[in-house]
Amino acid sequence: MKGGLPTDAARDPMNEPRFRKTLVSTVVATAFAVLVASPAEAKTANAVTGLTVKDYDEYTAVIVKLSRSATFKVTKMKDGRLALVIDNCKVAPSTAKLDKSVGAVKKITSATVKSEAWVYVTLGKNARSYEGTALKKPPQIFFKVLKKKTPSEKPVEKTPAEKYTTSGAKGEFPTSAKGFAADTTPTVIDTICIDPGHGGRFTGAEGPKGTVEKDVNLDISLRLARMLRDKLGVRVIMTRTDDSHVYMRDRTGLSNAVKADLFIDVHNNAVLNAKVGGTETYFLSETRSDWDRAASIAENQEFLEENPNFTTDAGSLNFILSMLAQNEYLTESSELAYDVQKNLVQSLELRDRGVKQAPFYVLVGCQCPSILVEIAFISKTEEEKQLTDAAFQDKAATAIFDAVKAYKERYEARVNRGGGGR
Ligand SMILES: [Zn+2]
Repeated sequence: MKGGLPTDAARDPMNEPRFRKTLVSTVVATAFAVLVASPAEAKTANAVTGLTVKDYDEYTAVIVKLSRSATFKVTKMKDGRLALVIDNCKVAPSTAKLDKSVGAVKKITSATVKSEAWVYVTLGKNARSYEGTALKKPPQIFFKVLKKKTPSEKPVEKTPAEKYTTSGAKGEFPTSAKGFAADTTPTVIDTICIDPGHGGRFTGAEGPKGTVEKDVNLDISLRLARMLRDKLGVRVIMTRTDDSHVYMRDRTGLSNAVKADLFIDVHNNAVLNAKVGGTETYFLSETRSDWDRAASIAENQEFLEENPNFTTDAGSLNFILSMLAQNEYLTESSELAYDVQKNLVQSLELRDRGVKQAPFYVLVGCQCPSILVEIAFISKTEEEKQLTDAAFQDKAATAIFDAVKAYKERYEARVNRGGGGR
């Protein structure tokens, strides 16, 4: 932001010395617990910790919370029930249980069978198909029971980008209650919104040699946009194509207005420690505890500056509705994030810092799957140099392009098979 201070995701509290200390003491405590527990028990201590069933227009979400991440498979029982079989995990029947019908799910029971947790889902008459993903952070199985389409669903007319006018910093998040209730599942991915992070007076992070993040974000984004248009034939909408300031809310606001099918936010990272480097890809965090630290995340400072009176208090109904909107795309967002991360690491050969979830205000309210990419560390001299290199920028854009292409093909094949998009 100013004076070369790091402004990006990596400068979240976990990277600050104060918090690192807390982290170290947690690690010590865990190590102690492992010593006390028998080695076998420590290894197999995964358990189902809770169950949430939420109903949406298009599907009913079954979220099985776990104490740590796990793999799972879906088995169809003779009586028509589905069983989510979670490897190496225990479940107390009272922890994962649903007695009353919610949306397309009639009932849920559970049992530990040998070393597996079995969560039995009885489907309602309106269930059409299902899909699920195991998430690492927070550890959970995100399982969707898709509903049969109602005859009233009509394709939504796309709003031309030109009609969109910026609303400035005032007002609420772009999403309203009807934002997550109405949209139909797109059958093709034909509109992609690219957001080059920062711009104008918000320079983003600054490298030791003076390279500013907003410039390299834009360079890489423009390359990516060209590839998507030329090679994939999709409509690409950019939140900025020059060094202008765009309000944080207007970034997803534009994406929603043009009914984008994907939102890709391009950034570069920075920390005070000049030795730290690598690539990381984010999608939005939905856990309350993450949101409690949102104000301390450097990437959010621009938003807070634009919205000094902003609060994420429980009382902010609009905020909660916006969160729900993005929750709907959690599975797709994580799928895209993992693809992008894998390609970037392979191609750029930087340290793999992994796919993470974080409470980024900029992604809140986005009505399609969204990711935020931190391509490299501008605060590290070697990576700053690479970021200004045209060949490197091209490699980064190509890596993201390949992931989007693969995602688009998979998604469209899934929809055309009738398996349901999202
Ligand atoms: Zn940034």
